[in-house]
Amino acid sequence: MTGVRTALAAIGDGAGHFALDAVEVAAPAHGEVRVRLLAAGICHTDQASLSWPGPLVLGHEGAGVVEAVGAGVTPLRIGQRVLLNWAIPCGQCPQCTRGRGSLCERTHGVGTTPGSSRAAPGHTRWRGQAIERSFNLGTFSEYTLVRAEALTLLPDGLAPEQACILGCGVMTGVGAVLNVAGVQAGESVAVLGCGGVGLSAIQGARLAGAGTIIAIDRREQALARARELGATHSVQARADDDSHDQLVAQVRALGQGRGVDHAFEATAVPALAFLPLRFARNGGNAIQLSGSHGHATAHLPDFMWDKRYQVPLYGGCLPERDFPRLLDWAQRGELQLGSMVTHRYALPQLQRALDDMLVGASAKGVILFEAEA
Ligand SMILES: [Zn+2]
Ligand SMILES: [Zn+2]
Repeated sequence: MTGVRTALAAIGDGAGHFALDAVEVAAPAHGEVRVRLLAAGICHTDQASLSWPGPLVLGHEGAGVVEAVGAGVTPLRIGQRVLLNWAIPCGQCPQCTRGRGSLCERTHGVGTTPGSSRAAPGHTRWRGQAIERSFNLGTFSEYTLVRAEALTLLPDGLAPEQACILGCGVMTGVGAVLNVAGVQAGESVAVLGCGGVGLSAIQGARLAGAGTIIAIDRREQALARARELGATHSVQARADDDSHDQLVAQVRALGQGRGVDHAFEATAVPALAFLPLRFARNGGNAIQLSGSHGHATAHLPDFMWDKRYQVPLYGGCLPERDFPRLLDWAQRGELQLGSMVTHRYALPQLQRALDDMLVGASAKGVILFEAEA
């Protein structure tokens, strides 16, 4: 029998800050699994989540080990290493039945679809009160409680610090290229912003067999990483090119003067959200991966002609289709995760981890939890 576990967790206050404190994580109920976290990836959304209604256990990327299982959970067993994933398509709502599981109405709490993707909501407590977890996961915590469907078994040999980033950043970037844009062999791709999501899009373009892959960033170090991961060309954006005219001209020239087939934005800067439209050819794709909130100004002719502008969620993720293939590519070394993880931290260093991400020092930062004796 397993009882309540006390775990150190990062708890957002809803006003832009967080504190480290103990939470109580109950034993798993029917269909649930308690996971001891080994590693958790840090994403721009974690910074945004500091302003979501609190208190909230932060973190939504993670890999860990099954510590306790509730009744009815098969085939997971205690001691197995798992990847956590925040989207669990219900398979029955109107979005799921039309094949758009990443927009599942149960996950998003819209429409009339009953139920929830959450583990029993009252079973994680802080100071005696039930507490919500970011994306129903809350991975910046030594333990978390999830529904069994949120877990994918990890193959032996894949380090947790690499596996943990698959669940949001890598899925978002690779999935946007393969599932959303449908990049075909030989096509041209431009990626603005070479952080974790942008580098994942570049790897997705390489996996798709794109002919021209243009990486764009202000930081030479980020461009060097992008070239290692598959970019065929790199363009350094200049701080004095306010209108972006020079940048657009360079990218369009690399796209044979007509622009590229698919342009992605992954800078997390709202003002740049429409810039991929200017890189894209007529009839091409412009895709914003930042999930930016805030305001951006659109120049309507940038949409001309026949361009498609999309803001996809989670790379169109269908967990049962996408995670096995991402893990397979990772094991073969076709999807390179090791070189994307540039910074490692312990949980008490979370503030520094967020700061390193915001100033662009890290491609992907990861929280490593202490190994249990
Ligand atoms: Zn659904
Ligand atoms: Zn994320």
